[in-house]
Amino acid sequence: MRFRYHQPIPNFYKIENPHHPKTTISADFLNEFNELAIDYQFEGLSYSKLTDEFKNEWDIDWDNIIILKYKMSDEILKMEPSKEKCKLMDEEFQEVGAKSFELADILRQNGFRADLINPLDDRVSLRAIALQSNDAVITRSNMCMFKEGLNLGFFMIQTSIENLPFKTENDMLWVEDYCSTCGVCIDRCPENAFDGDGKFLRKLCTAHREGCSRCIDLCPFYKRGYEKVKKRYSRMKK
Ligand code: SF4
Ligand code: SF4
Repeated sequence: MRFRYHQPIPNFYKIENPHHPKTTISADFLNEFNELAIDYQFEGLSYSKLTDEFKNEWDIDWDNIIILKYKMSDEILKMEPSKEKCKLMDEEFQEVGAKSFELADILRQNGFRADLINPLDDRVSLRAIALQSNDAVITRSNMCMFKEGLNLGFFMIQTSIENLPFKTENDMLWVEDYCSTCGVCIDRCPENAFDGDGKFLRKLCTAHREGCSRCIDLCPFYKRGYEKVKKRYSRMKK
């Protein structure tokens, strides 16, 4: 069992799943749902369609996922590692978790099956599901990064909706090459949580024990944003 600084989120559902859930969503309703998610202070949505191979590997029988992405507070992120920081991170997680239940309820109310995937369930990896979206990559510092930012957390809803706009190609794969030219996270990690080849060593990283986030704070993707780093990378490659 991995160490957790997050507490379990209580069950906030107010609405039952429909008995005969709908499997298609209209473009209009999906747009409305996106706008609603943004009103709820999410950064945006991504979608994962899990392959049969993936489902077999993780022993699950569901496959349509809506990813609700939220920005972790810059103020908290910049704090030094401490119990207080972990507490604030958990409070933020609980607050966003409650909003995620509300969004799942809205889908239920509109005839779709919608279940929040328990982010603390070790039987399935949310990061692995996030990568199935073709809308994220893992950075050298082991962050699951979407284009909206390096400091994103996420909740996920598994749903009966089959016709979500799933991406089939990942245009962020260049990040691995960029990371191989950077290495700021390796040089500045206070715990030396990287081996001689620059491979991340999870056991030494204190992000989940003490709330360290120094490598996020120093990373060009956090300081400049995805698009600016991409432009710089394109110039480097000319
Ligand atoms: S600091 Fe550099 S090497 Fe580390 S994750 Fe960010 S871009 Fe990649
Ligand atoms: S979170 Fe902290 S300990 Fe973990 S890799 Fe980043 S800088 Fe190192």
